[in-house]
Amino acid sequence: MSSRLAKLRRSAFSAQNGCCFYCGLPMWEDDPERFAQTLGLTVRQAQRLRSTAEHLQARCDGGLDRPSNIVAACAHCNHKRHEGRKVARDWLAHKAWVQRRLSAEAWFDKAMLSRLWRAALR
Ligand SMILES: [Zn+2]
Repeated sequence: MSSRLAKLRRSAFSAQNGCCFYCGLPMWEDDPERFAQTLGLTVRQAQRLRSTAEHLQARCDGGLDRPSNIVAACAHCNHKRHEGRKVARDWLAHKAWVQRRLSAEAWFDKAMLSRLWRAALR
């Protein structure tokens, strides 16, 4: 990843208080082990909550590395936006879809989700 994009990701991460743009769950930037330990997750589970730079307008649709186009999203939400598609789902539609899955407790797995929710409420 370019250092410019990494910088944009870091500033989006702090502007969002370390929470994913789509699912609102906590993410980590540098230390998955510590994050896992704090939240009572396995390191493997924590990998899915790595902070990634997400282009609202996808790069393949001409989206630029600009502050207005970059948010911080967890690896899981980012991956699911593109999974099995040639064209990334529109970000607004993706956010609504993730929120619906969350309300149905069908995002990550239930045990992991309840740990994360408890942590988010602290
Ligand atoms: Zn997410």
